[in-house]
Amino acid sequence: MNLIFLGPPGAGKGTHAVRLAQQLNIPQISTGDMLRGHVKAQTRLGLEAKKYMDAGELVPDDVIIGMVKERLQEPDCAGGYIFDGFPRTVAQAEALSEFAKIDAVLNLIVSDQVIIDRLSGRRVCPDCNGTFHIKHLENASVCPNCGGKLVIRKDDEPETVLNRLNVYRRQTEPLIDYYRQKGLLRDANGEGSVDANYAEVLEALGIR
Ligand code: ADP
Ligand code: ZN
Repeated sequence: MNLIFLGPPGAGKGTHAVRLAQQLNIPQISTGDMLRGHVKAQTRLGLEAKKYMDAGELVPDDVIIGMVKERLQEPDCAGGYIFDGFPRTVAQAEALSEFAKIDAVLNLIVSDQVIIDRLSGRRVCPDCNGTFHIKHLENASVCPNCGGKLVIRKDDEPETVLNRLNVYRRQTEPLIDYYRQKGLLRDANGEGSVDANYAEVLEALGIR
């Protein structure tokens, strides 16, 4: 199955996409993680992307499209994949339709208040890419998975969070109608507990 997970920042796309990818034994493709990998490795692409990411703006479409197109050529994508955080603009969705066939688009629905709460409490582990919320951590600075030092993502700072939400509304939300019109959209509630939401995700996608 070739899937897209759509939803505002902090909706839980990454959490559910990782889990479902493990369950289906297919890769989860997060353009955000790929970009952060480039930034960390200080590639040319990373240096170019960093200024947009730090400001909560979208990285230009041509950069993203080229990166994704290459990724889909890797052998692990042959049996299906889950996009997490891509496409983020109608232009990206249209480009994607030229080189991939999408089976379903999961739309995670979450209110602004919940998003702001989640992002402002988010801590990430640069060593294992784990994502956590301070309210679930015994120690807010130690990764419970690998013992690494947890950090606040630069784009989770309060002003940037608001900007990312605006960017989402303006540039990404139109994809909901775009995919609904194609008959591919499946809605799921993104509020509440991770396990309850995951059950909804499976249900919405008809996976059991
Ligand atoms: P979020 O938690 O906001 O969903 P991501 O990890 O998906 O975060 O993305 C972080 C940043 O990387 C975005 O704010 C944006 O700058 C950039 N980015 C990721 N995916 C895309 C994309 N498909 N198009 C443009 N920019 C992207
Ligand atoms: Zn870790």
